[in-house]
Amino acid sequence: MFSKKPRQRSCIACRRLENWTDLIRTVLLDNEIKVDLNHRMPGRGAWLHSKCFQIALERKAFNRSFKYEGEIKFKELEDYLKNLSN
Ligand SMILES: [Zn+2]
Repeated sequence: MFSKKPRQRSCIACRRLENWTDLIRTVLLDNEIKVDLNHRMPGRGAWLHSKCFQIALERKAFNRSFKYEGEIKFKELEDYLKNLSN
């Protein structure tokens, strides 16, 4: 009776449930967001749609997700998203 559904994660920005393969996993290392392409990095992950990055910023979704109040650097994620849209 159990169908093999892909695991689902919710996007930290729009909160929609999605197959995890359609989301980007990020982790917070010190105060920098790292893109976890292989889903292997330890620690708490924040998942989001590539198109939801701006919304995530506006809602401070990363701070909330990582329970981190300081300033977060997004350079690596920004570069990654830039390459995606090229
Ligand atoms: Zn989203």
